[in-house]
Amino acid sequence: MARLALGVDFGGTKVLASVVDVDSGKVIGTAKKKTDSTDGPDELMQRIFDVARKAADKADTEMGDIAGVCVGIAGQVDVERGILVGTANLSRSVVDLPMAKLLKDELGIPAIIRNDVQIAAAGESRFGAGKDIDDFVVVFVGTGIGGGIVRNGEIVVGSAGNAGELGHTTVQVGGRVCGCGAHGHLEAYASRTGMTRAMLGELRRGRKSVLSEMMPDLDPADPAVAPFKSGMIREALKQKDEMVREVIDEGGTYLGYGLANVVNFLNPTRIILGGGVIESVDVFFDAAETSTRKQALAHAGQAVQIERAGLGDFSGVVGAAVLAAEAGAT
Ligand SMILES: [Zn+2]
Repeated sequence: MARLALGVDFGGTKVLASVVDVDSGKVIGTAKKKTDSTDGPDELMQRIFDVARKAADKADTEMGDIAGVCVGIAGQVDVERGILVGTANLSRSVVDLPMAKLLKDELGIPAIIRNDVQIAAAGESRFGAGKDIDDFVVVFVGTGIGGGIVRNGEIVVGSAGNAGELGHTTVQVGGRVCGCGAHGHLEAYASRTGMTRAMLGELRRGRKSVLSEMMPDLDPADPAVAPFKSGMIREALKQKDEMVREVIDEGGTYLGYGLANVVNFLNPTRIILGGGVIESVDVFFDAAETSTRKQALAHAGQAVQIERAGLGDFSGVVGAAVLAAEAGAT
């Protein structure tokens, strides 16, 4: 019988759960739900329980036949205690929540929690764009920017669990305010949230853009506007929107500054980039690649391979399932 485990990827806009055959990497059943940054702890846990059960239903599997569950969550995780100790993009009420214990009590299977990009790194390492090498860095661009480091085939966690937090490294001294409260972090420039803020700023200054036609109800002065979807950005670029093009070029260039620092500091064989805006907006990927090679030390900058994630949206859930199965086996 196939060895099955449940992987859950909890991000800033959605939570995705999949039952995965951990020997082949095949996704057997999947469920998805929106997340809400105003959720309290009970609502947040309920969302996770719901998608987990639905994924098991879709896979035609009983919870008892699943080896374990791993939830990857956007924030700093205390792996030993199974709690989230800090987050820049989710509701503060989830901090210090004993998530692993709550999951185990509710679902009746072994449960662990990890950082969301570390699970994606595990997925790419086992079945994705990193499966042929044991030394790479993954960077995911979404509502935030996260990074994961794989060294000698192992995920580097760091002493406090936040190794790879590339989004919160400084690319502009005294620059824009980041979701974490500090200034000039990469995430404030190159995440979908950061680039959306920049586009809204341009609209407020009276710049013409097809975005105003695509979203007639958009109020650029409303601080609660959700980050624009990658599909929307791609469509605006297709219509040759100058303002969107400028902001995406700038965001990609900043991403390259961050990646060049990674190249010089760690000298990985490969950088694997993922997330909707990387997958669907070529201009962004190209700007990031050009800027990385230009800013990094000449030899390392030319030698580094820059590729897109191999598992797309499923890197996280597949990696989480692999980690859950490994944790259950020991
Ligand atoms: Zn930050």
